This record gives sequence, C-alpha cells and structure tokens, in this order.
Amino acid sequence: MSMIHLLPSEAERRRTALLDLDLAEVTEVVTGLGQPAFRARQLWEWLYRRYAADFDAMHTLPKALRERLAEEYTVQVLTPVAQVVSAARDTLKVLFRLRDGQTIEAVLMLYDKRRTLCISSQAGCAMGCTFCATAQGGLARNLTAGEIVAQVLFFARYLADPALEPQTEVARPTTVTNIVLMGMGEPMHNYNNVWKALRRLTDPEAFGLGARNITLSTVGLVPMIDRMAEEGIQIGLAVSLHAPNDALRSSLVPINKRYDVATLLDAAARYTQKTKRRVTFEYALMAGINDSPELAHELGAKIRHLLCHVNLIPLNPVPDSPYQPTSDADTAAFAEILRSYGISTTVRLRRGIEINAGCGQLKRALAA
Ligand code: SAH
Repeated sequence: MSMIHLLPSEAERRRTALLDLDLAEVTEVVTGLGQPAFRARQLWEWLYRRYAADFDAMHTLPKALRERLAEEYTVQVLTPVAQVVSAARDTLKVLFRLRDGQTIEAVLMLYDKRRTLCISSQAGCAMGCTFCATAQGGLARNLTAGEIVAQVLFFARYLADPALEPQTEVARPTTVTNIVLMGMGEPMHNYNNVWKALRRLTDPEAFGLGARNITLSTVGLVPMIDRMAEEGIQIGLAVSLHAPNDALRSSLVPINKRYDVATLLDAAARYTQKTKRRVTFEYALMAGINDSPELAHELGAKIRHLLCHVNLIPLNPVPDSPYQPTSDADTAAFAEILRSYGISTTVRLRRGIEINAGCGQLKRALAA
C-alpha cells in the first residue's frame, strides 16, 4: 500500500453512494436506466452477498448498465490507507480514508470460532471521555449508513478471498461472525444512520448477520437507550460505565453530568425488562483511578439486581495520558468481588496492543 494518497476527484465525490440506498431505491435507479427490476436484485446480491468492490466485478450485469451506473454511482466510499497485522497474526487493523479525506478505523479480531469486527460510527467523537484517544480530536462528522456498512463489506470481502493480502492466521474463505460498534464515535449520537446500517446488516436479503451477533456500545445517551429498546431487533447493548458513582464517572465520562449513574442504570433496567436481554457493562480498569476493591463493592451493590454482565477492559494506554492500566492481579481481584455479588464478569482479552489497535490509536500514531 502506497503512503501517497490521492484524494478522490470532484466527480468521484459527487457520485451517489449505492450503499446508502435501500432495495426499493436501487430498483428505482435500475429501472430508471431502462433495465428490468430483476437487475436490481442482481446488483443487490453483488453488493451484499458477494461483496463486489466495484461495478467491474459485477459480471452478470450487462456491461452497458455497469458503465451507466459508474457514471453517477459509486460502491467505493472508503479506501484502506494503512493496514497493520499483530505479531500473532490474529488481529488486523485498517485505517480507511473516506471520500472527503476524513479517516476512520476498524479492527478484525480472529478467534478460534469467531471473526469479530469492530467498526466506527463517526469520524471522531464528541463525547470527550478523558481516557479515550478518539476524544482528543473531537467530532468531525457522522458516518453515513453506507460508510458504516462498507467497513463490514470490506472485511467480508477479505475473509471470503484467500488471495487477498495480508495473510493472517485464520484459514480463509470464512465469514464475519460478530460485529461490535466499539470503534470510533458514539453510535447513539448518530442514531438514524447507525440503525439504517444495522437493518441492512441484519436483513436476510442483504448482509444477513444475526442481530444477536451484533453489539452496540454506548457512553450512555439515555433517551437513545429507550429508543433502542423499541426497535424490535435483537442487537446487543453494551454500556460504558467505567465508574459506579457520579463524582468519579463525571471525571472520566463527561456526559455523566447530563445522564448520571442512577438515571443510566434505570435506563439499563428498562431495557432489560423490555427486551428480556441482558445488558453488558464495560469497565476499563485504570490504575489508582477506578480499580479499588471499595469501588468494586460499590459497583456490585448497585448492579446486582440487574440482568447484566460486566466486561472488564484492560486500559489501552494512550500516549501523553495520565491513565495507566491496572495490574493483572488487581484486575482479577476486582472481577472476584463482582462475582461475589453474583454478577457474571469477564476480563476482555488484550488484542492488538502492539499494533495500536485500541481505541483511535492507529489514526493518532499515523498523524504523529
Ligand atoms: N462511544 C461508544 C463506543 C466506542 S468506544 C462507547 O463509549 O461505548 C468502545 C469502548 O472502548 C468503550 O467502552 C470505551 O469507553 C472504551 N475505551 C475508550 N478508550 C479506551 C482505552 N484507552 N482503553 C480501554 N478502553 C477504552
């Protein structure tokens, strides 16, 4: 991959992104070009079942149609500009450039049975969490539904084709089995585009991944948690808690001043009652900040009555940040205390630390 990146031409930027359109709209486009509607189905299949990277690849479509489409439409809303594979060859991180020059990250984690993709929902983020690398640059803009879906299709294409570089440890062809919205951005702050993308990704006629295999992670925008509970598809909910009380949480997660811990836990309770699904609380352990046994007890007492699971995340160190990861021994002790309250608790595996795969770090490393 070259380090010289040409920005797309004005003409390319003006083309409509096909991935932003639903099947009815794609059908209008195709019939508007004088073609029968079944061609739209074929085009849809090329996009979402065969992961075509461009119109040229769609060889069952008449060449004239492909050429007409390419004049006004595009499939390429993002371009990989840097890829890094971990030493264990089990994590692949990609920095993508969007058509307006913004950059976002996505990470593929290859486990024994799962191929989990961590994708971004915004270029940057407005939430300002003090320990997060993405927060440092602020929000550039929301991603479109097409840009969210395109991240998934990029990796689906990679996993489907053993010839595509880079080589990783997993045998290909294989498929994306899980998606987490835990990349850059706050998905609830870009609600409509994120849900449009989620419907496309779970639609059996489109990408067709089971909703239960997708998790949306939020900093805790309470009205949007209530809205998600009404959506009627079984996307998993993760809430970034990181602290059990308001004084501490407000110092780490500024949005806590708007939606405090009690309000957030109430919303989580409503969500579990409405959906009958358990909520995951994420808790990034930071040495001397939020990792004491007292805080573990405070947390345990506050959430023991909830249908929930706690995922303890070892902090990814961010350069120039005062926060340091908690030791393994203190992490294990914190987990044990939560378990003593009957709370199911796991410690997330560290992945991709050495490739800056955590939390906005590749973008930051390349900019440095
Ligand atoms: N905005 C959403 C999703 C993106 S971040 C959210 O806040 O949930 C995904 C998870 O990574 C969140 O739990 C976030 O708090 C956490 N995170 C951010 N920076 C981190 C860091 N340096 N180390 C570990 N986890 C971090």
